[in-house]
Amino acid sequence: MTDIDVLIIGAGPAGAVSSAYLNKMGYKVQVLEKTVFPRFVIGESLLPHCMDHLDAVGFLPNIKKHGFQLKNGAAFYKGDRRLEFMFSDQHTQGWSWTWQVKRANFDQILINSAQEQGVPVKFNCTVTAVNCTKDVQTVTYTDGDGISHTVTSRFLIDASGYGRVLPQLFDLDAEVSTIPRGAVFCHIHDTKRTSQAGENIFIHSFRQNQAWIWAIPFSDRTTSVGVVSDVEYVKSLHADGGKGFLEHIRTFPDLKGRFSEEELVFEPREILSYAKGVKQLYGEGYVMCGNATEFLDPIFSSGVTLATGSGYNAALLVHKHLQGETVDWQGSYEDVVRRGVDVFRSFVLNWYNGNLQTIFFAKDIEPAIKKQICSVLAGYVWDETNPIIKKHKTILQTLADYIKLTEAQN
Ligand SMILES: Cc1cc2nc3c(=O)[nH]c(=O)nc-3n(C[C@H](O)[C@H](O)[C@H](O)COP(=O)(O)OP(=O)(O)OC[C@H]3O[C@@H](n4cnc5c(N)ncnc54)[C@H](O)[C@@H]3O)c2cc1C
Repeated sequence: MTDIDVLIIGAGPAGAVSSAYLNKMGYKVQVLEKTVFPRFVIGESLLPHCMDHLDAVGFLPNIKKHGFQLKNGAAFYKGDRRLEFMFSDQHTQGWSWTWQVKRANFDQILINSAQEQGVPVKFNCTVTAVNCTKDVQTVTYTDGDGISHTVTSRFLIDASGYGRVLPQLFDLDAEVSTIPRGAVFCHIHDTKRTSQAGENIFIHSFRQNQAWIWAIPFSDRTTSVGVVSDVEYVKSLHADGGKGFLEHIRTFPDLKGRFSEEELVFEPREILSYAKGVKQLYGEGYVMCGNATEFLDPIFSSGVTLATGSGYNAALLVHKHLQGETVDWQGSYEDVVRRGVDVFRSFVLNWYNGNLQTIFFAKDIEPAIKKQICSVLAGYVWDETNPIIKKHKTILQTLADYIKLTEAQN
């Protein structure tokens, strides 16, 4: 006999979605969360596909009440040229909108929604040790008073995000092949927001595609602005209170003249070497989801959608397992999650090698191809009817080569 059925480590999006589903299926669940919510976390621009997962666990009515900034597309800049993708014009039949959110508020709404549905959540409780066997998972955690507790469960979900509890305890971290990158960012009062900047995220690439800047407008007239690049460059922008960063962001179209230093919501912060890999996503008695698995790069705002998607899928399979069904964790979970991550990986690699810029800023971007790309940008990376997804490993290079050749001939 165990104390509970399923223990979930972490109350971020992956933990909130997985715990809500299993609670709905009648299991005795428990979420343990290290911090006290609301807590800051980066990752503010959502993708439409995460709406499917949030809808499936009944979170949307509560989120809608908050009045987050609607997001119905994304814009990319190269110099003064701008290309806009609208999610209403995409290959996959799916959501055409989502939100841009301050994660402190958003994550609190998600976990509060799970609590309203009956999920017990213990905040200020840090998981420190785990022992997994076929039938009994033993988890040790320390509460806010420093007192150690032990709880047993039939199954364990690691949704600890950047905390990476099981990858660290079970030595599952894997090497990442991309160069270490980082980000320097802040929130700024944005009372002079331009109409061109609109409501959606926009991204400029610079330094020969090795750096990019995001601007994510929120509904309260503040905006998140950040620069991503190699660690050394990010450190140089962050030095001296982020002086270089603040000077730099004022030079971009649509950001010029919008911000002054007095208008910072918080001082520039940096996050370095966030990319992580993992050797395996499941084992006897446990499964990992969200950022506790793999996180490559924020360029396509995929993190929360991969977290809600993997959290939801993990929970469906934990349910089957607890019903006594044989679950093919490799085929039904790990391979599926990795397939989606790999599509984003191809996009990330082709972003930094310049192929995507060649495609985005071709003289004429083929409408069908634009729709297919748009579905990836909307997070629908498991739609095998999308040719860009089916051939993601090679097609972006082929397209970029073709565009370069035809433009050189004309
Ligand atoms: C620069 C940058 C920009 C980004 N931009 C975007 C974006 O625009 N859109 C997007 O979708 N994603 C973005 N991301 C990614 C996003 O931050 C993550 O993918 C997302 O937060 C993952 O959600 P999660 O539920 O897996 O983990 P988290 O949100 O990290 O939640 C995990 C929770 O587990 C808790 N925890 C950790 N350790 C323990 C422990 N030992 N015991 C108990 N609890 C623990 C933590 O306190 C935390 O609350 C960005 C990332 C970076 C680095």
